[in-house]
Amino acid sequence: MTPPPRSVPYPSPPQGGPSQRPPELEGSRLLRFVGRAMRRRCPNCGARHIFATYFRLRPHCPHCPRCGSRLERGEGDYFIGAYTLNLVAAELVFALVFVGRVVATWPNPPWDFLEWGSVVGVILAPVLFYPFSKTLWLAADLASRPLTPEDLERRG
Ligand SMILES: [Zn+2]
Repeated sequence: MTPPPRSVPYPSPPQGGPSQRPPELEGSRLLRFVGRAMRRRCPNCGARHIFATYFRLRPHCPHCPRCGSRLERGEGDYFIGAYTLNLVAAELVFALVFVGRVVATWPNPPWDFLEWGSVVGVILAPVLFYPFSKTLWLAADLASRPLTPEDLERRG
């Protein structure tokens, strides 16, 4: 009969040396990516003009020879998370503005303005937030799943 395996203590990092944390766990990295994404820039390098149109990302990061990363990272349903993020953020902003306006003007909220403003807001908010949702999704993905050599390949 063999004794149960003993647990091995996790080795402590060397004192005074570089951080042993994997890059995806560094908070400053995520903040840097999110800050770039909020400006519609490449989360990885900060390059501008990563959108071919208002709605469509370029396949690779342009204008940046040191990055050149794929902005569409492979999977066909890659941006489903961005669409979900866009929907949740747009509806959350709508709800906050609506409730804030009702509370601010209570007891006589402008119901006609709120009704028609809601229609316009619910249509416009997802359109306006759409490119930001894509760059934010890309930032979150890059923070949790760093670039691989395949992401740096240029096509055609
Ligand atoms: Zn880039």
